[in-house]
Amino acid sequence: MSAVKTRFAPSPTGYLHIGGARTALFSWAYAKRHAGQFILRIEDTDVARSTPEAVQAILDGMAWLQLDHDEGPYYQMQRMDRYKQVLNNLLAAGHAYYCYSSKEELDALRESQMLQGLKPRYDGRWRPAADKQLPVPPSGVQPVVRFKNPTEGVVVWDDLVKGRIEIANAELDDLIIARADGTPTYNFCVVVDDWEMGITQVIRGDDHVNNTPRQINLLKALGAQVPQYAHLSMILGDDGQKLSKRHGAVSVMQYHEDGYLREAVLNYLARLGWSHGDDEVFSMSQFCEWFDLDHITPSAAQFNTEKLNWLNAHYIKTLPLAQIAQEVAPRLHQLGIQDITFPALTAVLALYRERCNNLNQLAQEIAFFYQTPTVNSVDAEKHITPETAVVIEAFVTKAQACDWSANALHEVLNTVVAAQQIKFPKLAMPLRVALIGVAQSPSIDQVMALLGKEVCLQRIRSLFPKI
Ligand code: GLU
Repeated sequence: MSAVKTRFAPSPTGYLHIGGARTALFSWAYAKRHAGQFILRIEDTDVARSTPEAVQAILDGMAWLQLDHDEGPYYQMQRMDRYKQVLNNLLAAGHAYYCYSSKEELDALRESQMLQGLKPRYDGRWRPAADKQLPVPPSGVQPVVRFKNPTEGVVVWDDLVKGRIEIANAELDDLIIARADGTPTYNFCVVVDDWEMGITQVIRGDDHVNNTPRQINLLKALGAQVPQYAHLSMILGDDGQKLSKRHGAVSVMQYHEDGYLREAVLNYLARLGWSHGDDEVFSMSQFCEWFDLDHITPSAAQFNTEKLNWLNAHYIKTLPLAQIAQEVAPRLHQLGIQDITFPALTAVLALYRERCNNLNQLAQEIAFFYQTPTVNSVDAEKHITPETAVVIEAFVTKAQACDWSANALHEVLNTVVAAQQIKFPKLAMPLRVALIGVAQSPSIDQVMALLGKEVCLQRIRSLFPKI
């Protein structure tokens, strides 16, 4: 068995979507697991639909997910000369032939077949055969090139996900492998590349199952080793329908923008149609040790946003604080906050990360540490009153004398509550509204210690001017 070589071969007609990312992840992990190589190949031959922006979006998505390739990216448009050479070799070897049928002719053929209740297919009128007289090529017509598909027998492959698949050659007509302008067609380029790049396992979406028997026949005609195939089932949205733009974020980078960690998205994608016992939470290195194609479900996988959110919360809580800080800092900048030097972001995150399952939400929740908060009017009306002003004043008087550590502030809070004979929220709520803008927060003493004495007093005084 030759060394494992897998590839991800997206057509750059849009962003890297969730399905593509999962295909890429599985191909990448398979190569890692077998100490093989992973290739990135951009299938940009559909010139009308491929765009440089889409190429960039795919590269960005792959980079964000850190699915690094060992070779490439190859661009099919840069390999045209090679495809044409192989095409000529096939023609010379008698595995392909020129077909001069016009569109009108083929339309008429199709129509008559349909009328007879037959499956529409090319009838092989330009296909050379031993004792066959071919028509005279019409002048001024540029022919297409068709592959001489075997007429007998079956194409069989043991799909590593779907099991054995058999297609009778009688079902397959002679595929056009080059257009009239000489450009090779999609299936042909894929075959030449998989062959020449030495791909051993083709892991791709099951929308390509129908192409596989044609590709296998082409590979055989080229004398190429046929790779193994693994066709991954599609991904359905939360609602059980085919995943589409309707479901919101289908682009991988959109998840990044929407506040998801790479670790969560990767872990989530890994479990989308693949399992390792009951393991739900695992790192990519763990995944690469475990990943195999036997445990991929052949049935469709259903997207579950709640589970992704749960994983995101898990990673927000458990990854090193410095890493979370790196993710949150640009999101604070996006909120218009430039200076995040004080208090230390990691300290703030240590206090707040348990509360959020999303990085954007986390940035919003901690923004008040770095900018004066907008006070919630409902909370203000309820908690900023002449009565609470008395309590707050008592607190400020005592607190000013302490060292402003969380412990000291905690004691001051308790002392004031006892002295004023009030319940704790009577003091904590108005304090929170003044400091944070809303009446909820994790422990107020820790928040105050992080904010620092000066900022706290300033904010309290702006709501309680007489203090
Ligand atoms: N370019 C194809 C696509 O984006 C994938 C081809 C393949 O994996 O063989 O759907």
